[in-house]
Amino acid sequence: MTRTEQLLAELIALPSVNPAFLPPRHPQAGEKDAAEFLAATAARAGLEVEFQKVLPGRANLLARLRPRGRIKQTILLAPHLDTVGADGTQFIPQRRHGRLHGRGACDTKGSVAAMLGALCELAKLKTRPLETEIIFAGLIDEEHAQAGSRALVASGFKADLAIVGEPTKLHVVTAHKGCLWLQLETCGRAAHGATPQLGKNAVHEMARIVCALETDYAAQLKKKKHRLLGTGTVNVGQISGGTQPNIVPASCRIAIDRRTLPGETEAGVRREIAALLRAKKLSAQISSTKLASALPLETNSKLPLVQNFLRAAGQSRPVGVDYFCDAAVLAAGGTPSVVFGPGDIAQAHTADEWISLAELERGKNLLLNFLKSLS
Ligand SMILES: [Zn+2]
Repeated sequence: MTRTEQLLAELIALPSVNPAFLPPRHPQAGEKDAAEFLAATAARAGLEVEFQKVLPGRANLLARLRPRGRIKQTILLAPHLDTVGADGTQFIPQRRHGRLHGRGACDTKGSVAAMLGALCELAKLKTRPLETEIIFAGLIDEEHAQAGSRALVASGFKADLAIVGEPTKLHVVTAHKGCLWLQLETCGRAAHGATPQLGKNAVHEMARIVCALETDYAAQLKKKKHRLLGTGTVNVGQISGGTQPNIVPASCRIAIDRRTLPGETEAGVRREIAALLRAKKLSAQISSTKLASALPLETNSKLPLVQNFLRAAGQSRPVGVDYFCDAAVLAAGGTPSVVFGPGDIAQAHTADEWISLAELERGKNLLLNFLKSLS
């Protein structure tokens, strides 16, 4: 068993489910046990360890390798420590046919093991970088509200490059979509079901809006293509309205998920939808439902450090992904960010999450080679 595999297996056995997905004070909730275990691992390798308090009982773990000389640049390795929920058996790591199964195996404890593993190995070498400081940040709360990355940015932290750990199959990702949740509400007038002509049916109005979103608006979005991401999307994911069959409904609500491209903003999306409704002579109130919308990511792949990392990963060009992550938060805070890690997003959040052990080891080696190449 390699050290990386050992580290990952131990991490899987320490549940760190995001508390947003569990009842209060649940034993599997929170990143604390995983963070403390990693802090001890990092300290043993000679890294400087620090906790950054974010929420009650929840802190980002920062483990730092100082250069031999003066700090000229900083590299951040930033996977997240929280996972989605799982049944109890998923916290028992299982090795089968070259794969390690368990909650968090790829999302993103695999990246944690590869990144911290690489940094610990580098710390033990005599040839640590001369002028590059490297910081591992085990972030909390990525799966819910990204409180960990937001707190890091709010503290004024900046780096010259962040490598955010997510299962990208070891592809270097420089762009991802953002995510916006909006609620639309139609307002009608209640009346007796026997005399619907005396009321105004809010469900009927909403039905026309749903239709306009899924046809006209979806078609409009298909016209705008991003080089790495394709097009934005819209999904009407929830609907509720009316009280009982014999009452003309006075209100109806839908919730939509809009995946945005770099350059698109919440204000712009609201304007688009409002214009569509006006053109169709429909009317609804539009409001936000998410705590904070997830921003899209677009990092300039021509930046020298991004080019260096692409070279180290043996790739000539970066790729884009549909899902959002902490990278956009860090990028908005002024740190050029890419996404990279072992594992496939197809296995994330599933009942049988796993990672290829060969890929895990390749990821660790690739990161180590990149870090060793820095001056
Ligand atoms: Zn996830």
